Amino acid sequence: MSGRRMTDRWNDDNKIFLGFNIKKKVLPTMYGGIIGDLMGVPVEFKKRGTFYINDVMGYGTYNQPPGTWSDDTSLTLCLVENIIEKGTINSLMDKFVRYRDSGYCTPYGETFDIGVSTSEAISKFKNGVPASNCGGTSEYENGNGAIMRISPLVFLLHNEFSFEKKVELIKQYTEITHSHPRAIVGSIIYVELLLRLFHNNSLEKSIKDISELFYENFNDNHIYRKELNHYKRIFEENFWEVPIDEIASDGYVVHTLEAAIWSLGNTKSFKDAILTAVNLGDDTDTVASITGALAGMYYKMDGIPEEWLAKIVKKEDIDHLIEKFYEFCANKAIVEEYGNI
Ligand SMILES: [Mg+2]
Repeated sequence: MSGRRMTDRWNDDNKIFLGFNIKKKVLPTMYGGIIGDLMGVPVEFKKRGTFYINDVMGYGTYNQPPGTWSDDTSLTLCLVENIIEKGTINSLMDKFVRYRDSGYCTPYGETFDIGVSTSEAISKFKNGVPASNCGGTSEYENGNGAIMRISPLVFLLHNEFSFEKKVELIKQYTEITHSHPRAIVGSIIYVELLLRLFHNNSLEKSIKDISELFYENFNDNHIYRKELNHYKRIFEENFWEVPIDEIASDGYVVHTLEAAIWSLGNTKSFKDAILTAVNLGDDTDTVASITGALAGMYYKMDGIPEEWLAKIVKKEDIDHLIEKFYEFCANKAIVEEYGNI
């Protein structure tokens, strides 16, 4: 065999390995987020201590059958589709309009849950405002509606080493519904954390590195440095020891991110991370969905209980879309590394 052909075969093997490595991370991040969402749906808004979830349940808050997922998953699936279609933020907002108004990307063709800021942004977009100007800008519009739908961005960014470029993309996808810098900083922390877990870093090291990133890239007066202060507990060494009574799990982006990271850091399995997050109460679906994406990336598919996966409503459609997404991401990674597929 000639040297050239040996190199080709070696490259082919490496491409297969690279593709497999991407699949290993896309699947659990996506399914982890969906599982967290559907586990939280029946008990959304319930107060901590008034219920206990230890399996996939149904009915409750929205009277939906077991395995029903909500806006967190629907809007994430819209982004997945939009990435595969190489769409823009405007084509993504078109999908959000279809979600809100026609039940697009929902389990049963009906929308039963949507955040106020997201709905207002969709209305602005329908009235002709460009997607980039649709997000709410006030301090009171810092809900978790952007972080709950952006996990797929990780698979566009894992080969991007410029923090500035990553921040730009994350900002662009956040501000279509949430334009306040606190929401944008929340999205940066969340995506950067997923990226570090993607690269197999420990949770502790990942968190430490993220605070350093902000300090290295933004000076004292930069608005993102100032906004980082609102998230400072996450970066404190004893964050895991914060008592549960001091962890809020409502829809404020700071609280949601704290609750999700705290749930992941205080448990040793995907299952326990999700159950801890759901049982915190309040914005259960989104807190557990964020926890689920992080825990999925961290524990991989082996960690996700098969009996929970089997209960996802419309699972075949989701399987099909996630498969297309992982193939897209794998091909993208291979082209970035080798120049061709
Ligand atoms: Mg929801």
